[in-house]
Amino acid sequence: MPGHPNCVFCKIIVGAIPAHVIYRDDKSLAFLDIQPLAPGHVLLVPLEHFGDIRQLPAGLAGSLMSVIPRLAAAVCNSTGATGLNLLQNNGPVAGQVVPHVHFHLIPRSANDGLGFRWNPRSYQAGEAERVATALRAELDAR
Ligand code: 5GP
Ligand code: ZN
Repeated sequence: MPGHPNCVFCKIIVGAIPAHVIYRDDKSLAFLDIQPLAPGHVLLVPLEHFGDIRQLPAGLAGSLMSVIPRLAAAVCNSTGATGLNLLQNNGPVAGQVVPHVHFHLIPRSANDGLGFRWNPRSYQAGEAERVATALRAELDAR
């Protein structure tokens, strides 16, 4: 079986385990999340196994992103949702459980009870410039 051994999304891609597939093209597959945050919660995955977005080739990232507006509209229109969260977790510390890169499309409605509970912080004096300098150096190295 092609794909990554023991990867649940690779198994879905090859049909070894069932899923409610809603979209497929030559690079990606979209299907219902088995434990949805709301009905219509969809996962979009590349057919090729990459652990997270840091390993994803830029061209494939572009292909996946190009599908998302159409999927997002379908998720909202089919469920009656008036908004949507696009969520993409990378690494266990960020909440990634399945190590095959994926995008969550989560339909949102007023009073759906899902909330959004991150607590923003502020930069200390000079911290933003140090952080931006480090980021620019990393980008220049790639
Ligand atoms: P993560 O936390 O890695 O960003 O999200 C993984 C998602 O995959 C979870 O929302 C989880 O419900 C979903 N998931 C895990 N196993 C399966 C499965 O076997 N089938 C489907 N359709 N979704 C799965
Ligand atoms: Zn996989």
